Amino acid sequence: MNERGTSSPILPGDWLGMIGGGQLGRMFCHAAQSLGFKVAVLDPDPLSPAGAVAERHIRAAYDDAEALAELAGICKAVTTEFENVPAASLEALAGHGALTRPDARAVAIVQDRIQEKAFLTRSGVPVAPYQPIENPAAIVSAPDALFPGILKAARLGYDGKGQVRVSSREQALQAFHDLGGRPCVLEALLPLDHEISVVLARGVDGATVVYPSATNAHRDGILAVSSVDAAAATGDVSRAAGEAALQIAEALHYVGVLCVEFFVLTDGRLIANEIAPRPHNSGHYTMNASVVSQFEQQVRATAGLPLGDTGSLASVVMLNLLGDLWFEADAATAREPDWASVLAVPGAQLHLYGKAEARRGRKMGHVNVLGADMAQAQQRARRVAAVLGLPLDA
Ligand code: ATP
Ligand code: MG
Repeated sequence: MNERGTSSPILPGDWLGMIGGGQLGRMFCHAAQSLGFKVAVLDPDPLSPAGAVAERHIRAAYDDAEALAELAGICKAVTTEFENVPAASLEALAGHGALTRPDARAVAIVQDRIQEKAFLTRSGVPVAPYQPIENPAAIVSAPDALFPGILKAARLGYDGKGQVRVSSREQALQAFHDLGGRPCVLEALLPLDHEISVVLARGVDGATVVYPSATNAHRDGILAVSSVDAAAATGDVSRAAGEAALQIAEALHYVGVLCVEFFVLTDGRLIANEIAPRPHNSGHYTMNASVVSQFEQQVRATAGLPLGDTGSLASVVMLNLLGDLWFEADAATAREPDWASVLAVPGAQLHLYGKAEARRGRKMGHVNVLGADMAQAQQRARRVAAVLGLPLDA
């Protein structure tokens, strides 16, 4: 495979490559730079959040052959920040002699829900009952147990986009048509008690480190709040999820940072929902509440350096800041939220992504609110939410 020279790490002072210029890429840049690396980012957007802070911004499409050759010429190792990076681009980079972490094979599996669910099942990790849907006939013959269900496009879904809840075959047929007839999975709608996710890192040498699971709440299909109670980090559910996530990383021979989203059902069962081959929004809490952040782990894994300590420093509530916060009620023009009042709350640490324009539903930043225990973190998070006018169920 492309793991030549695994015994000699890439050292600070050298270059690392990043495909994708969003906020995850930007936070990777910050972590890499604080370790003394230089970063080259490939992203077509001239205003990309990561491009703005990288030492080099190659403004080209993710599948631009010349740009990929240029990136491979600068960087010995390249990583990514979004799962829809064309697997062929990673192959091209590897062809030019760059180490790709993760590699094209792992990314190809997780970017397609049909392959992803088949892979999880093979690895012995339970998933929701499902059926691949590649034509209307597959809906007609789907088991009754898949209704009510959710029809999800197999590729390119995120933040609840590309999926439709369906309570009957007729609705599923309509939804399949509305999704453009592209390959989908139909999965049974499960009784969720809550949702959790696990971020882990696996090094070139196969060493692994895993963070405590975060409990996640979504609003309108987008992650709104993640919390981690440092005192419960070794609880049964967190441990079982951590073990399942490690099993997945091993089975993928994964190198890099990976996140697995799980459902905890009302009967206590743990079901894997999806895998992200990169740091994850639900792992942003690690930037302030863990010894080493998920982004630094990505740097270390990409460079082939030893992985860091995932221990918790505090209990934490992470609040996502969406573009909606920039718009008062029905106002059409944006205004800046009251950051000074956020920063006045003890334990609150603000991260903004430097996006040029606020839009509703767009991820603009997050606040990590730390506390000595969960009650304190939550009480402080309620203060931050109140200052920002975030709904208080947050
Ligand atoms: P994201 O990018 O936020 O992860 P996504 O578009 O990849 O979202 P999923 O994670 O598959 O989509 O689903 C989004 C949300 O829909 C889940 O977090 C969960 O709340 C709900 N959901 C998805 N599948 C099921 C299911 N089988 N049963 C019940 N709820 C579900
Ligand atoms: Mg999801």
